[in-house]
Amino acid sequence: MPDAKTTLKSELSELIDANRSEIIDLLRRFLRIRSVNPPGDTREAADFVRSILDRFGVPHRTVALDETMPNIVGRWDAAGSGRHLVLNGHLDVFPVTNEALWSADVRDGKIYGRGASDMKTGTLASVLAYCYLYQKRQQLAGALTLTVVSDEQSGGRFGTRYLFEHMPDEISGDCCLNGEPSGLGTLRFTEKATLRFSLSSRSKGGHGGYPHHAPNPIERICKLTARIYADYHLKLATLPADVDAILTSPETIAAADANLGTGAGDIARRITVNIGIIKGGQKATQIPTDCIAHLDIRIPIGSDRDAIQRQIDSLAAEHGCEMRVNWDHSYPASMTDPFGEMAGILRANIRQLLGSDAPPVSSLGGTDTRYWRWRGIPAVICGPSPLSMGTDEEHVTIEEAIAVIKLHALCAADYLDPARQGEAQPPA
Ligand SMILES: [Zn+2]
Repeated sequence: MPDAKTTLKSELSELIDANRSEIIDLLRRFLRIRSVNPPGDTREAADFVRSILDRFGVPHRTVALDETMPNIVGRWDAAGSGRHLVLNGHLDVFPVTNEALWSADVRDGKIYGRGASDMKTGTLASVLAYCYLYQKRQQLAGALTLTVVSDEQSGGRFGTRYLFEHMPDEISGDCCLNGEPSGLGTLRFTEKATLRFSLSSRSKGGHGGYPHHAPNPIERICKLTARIYADYHLKLATLPADVDAILTSPETIAAADANLGTGAGDIARRITVNIGIIKGGQKATQIPTDCIAHLDIRIPIGSDRDAIQRQIDSLAAEHGCEMRVNWDHSYPASMTDPFGEMAGILRANIRQLLGSDAPPVSSLGGTDTRYWRWRGIPAVICGPSPLSMGTDEEHVTIEEAIAVIKLHALCAADYLDPARQGEAQPPA
């Protein structure tokens, strides 16, 4: 006789299989909605999500600091008492150069669309898990909260960060599950710190043939950025011993390389520097009056980000430049226990559903899970392949989309299983 949980989980799986074409249609409609950030206006995408929630009759409300960037928050309580799981996904997407992405066309089993990878597939998985499990709440224990936010791609000031400032008790929960792109062959457990800053240099300018009259700001910025690149880019970071042991294990390196591109396993342990913008000058024969560069540095957990900031600040002064940190987009590293309960639940469900393992790896970008992880709340990511995100060919395979949607429902069902409440139990 299968137990109650096995029955519930197979019912959820069967429900998703039975509604497969409707789910794919929903995803394609979601992908056709332009919710590009910047400017980050997600009203139409939020309307779409609310229409799904209303159709299922689940509770939700809208919370917004800026009316163009609404956040949807909902909660329901299961029949039994127990822990509180929070689902988190974002509505905003990268800008496009390829307008065809707004058609969400299907070719060779893949849906091409902006947000297919980052992260409308994952967000839809959260929304559907919230709706499907609501119908089964009599068989579950604890509470499920849905947070569908705006502004993730510009740091979360109007999105998840705002929710934590405005209603922390409602959205903290005991655990967070998020559908950002991750690749189903990995379990993301740590994210690097970010240091985002500008470097600027000024001069009175002048004729290019009179370099003895004025310094050249472009030359100063070029020398300074080259020095920062030489000192920090790909420098091996000082990681906590337990994290380093995971990141150097052959299974983790192989999983990172396979899911995030060859080299990702190595990059995970290194500081990376990106020189994103350099602007200055008007004419080849003129000494420019100013030059500004914008850089972003990613620093693995355990390294002293503030020390790096101070070092760059003094390097800037030595080069006749000024450093300005963009604190809205600079944040500390974060991690969650890769062997904790939800990590185990996800890994077990991936094994069962896909027949493959998902070893712990480091993310290379940032996600809103950091807001939970900083508070010591476990936060686990399960989403489609990140390889096409933000590109002109962004896509998700239909099989992967269905798998992500199933995994969210199944992992939430496990976490809210009445038999699991109380003492944390090993994964099934
Ligand atoms: Zn994202």
